[in-house]
Amino acid sequence: MNFVDTHAHVHFPDYELDPDEVLAAAADDGVTKVLCVGCTLPDSKLAIGMAARHDNVWATIGLHPHEGAKYVNDNQALQEFRDLARKPKVVGVGETGLDYYYNNSSKEDQKKLLRFQLNLAQEYDLPVIFHVREAFSDFFRVLDDFEGVRGVVHSFTGTLDEMNEILHRGLYIGLNGIMTFTKEEKQLEMAKIVPLSKLLVETDAPFLTPKPFRGTICQPKHVRVTAEFLANLRGESIDELAQVTTKNAQQLFNI
Ligand SMILES: [Zn+2]
Repeated sequence: MNFVDTHAHVHFPDYELDPDEVLAAAADDGVTKVLCVGCTLPDSKLAIGMAARHDNVWATIGLHPHEGAKYVNDNQALQEFRDLARKPKVVGVGETGLDYYYNNSSKEDQKKLLRFQLNLAQEYDLPVIFHVREAFSDFFRVLDDFEGVRGVVHSFTGTLDEMNEILHRGLYIGLNGIMTFTKEEKQLEMAKIVPLSKLLVETDAPFLTPKPFRGTICQPKHVRVTAEFLANLRGESIDELAQVTTKNAQQLFNI
């Protein structure tokens, strides 16, 4: 039984565990592929470095919506970022998107930076990892200007309507440890009915450690207990959920 952790940040310089050890532990535990997801220009370079050093790791390059104000007018940084798309083992763009919960950057700057990355994804025919928080109507408005973009809305905790809008656009839904400890009945109802053919599993390590590992640092091998929780919740066998979500991840990211 194999799993793919489609969203991890074990390359963060402040990750408190040894990335080599957690990646080896993940492989031992059947988590055979891990995506290191970039959030800034230097962070995307670190993700690429991690992928270069590990056979079971791939990288995505992204400028997180929190970074909008920092990058949106820095043409040199944007050019440098753009050039990363050609590096070996870069299999996606993101995380990018809109976050109106924290609003660390203005809505306008966030939208500009999202458009920039959607253009890049189209140019290189790469899938996109989206981070969207309390911003779905603006997100869909921007996304709909970019035909044929494929990708995943990661760490999804939204409503049924939002889920349907996502699926309507052919995007995948990424679920993580939140599902194991949420107290929001609505989120569990949503997780029950995401079509298996559109489901991806992830950890978002070092964040969002699933039960029963709360209080420890999240690592890619924890994707397994989230998958087990979801299989149980959805009334599916863990073998089937593992097989289909792994296939989904391999198809979307071509890994
Ligand atoms: Zn993340």
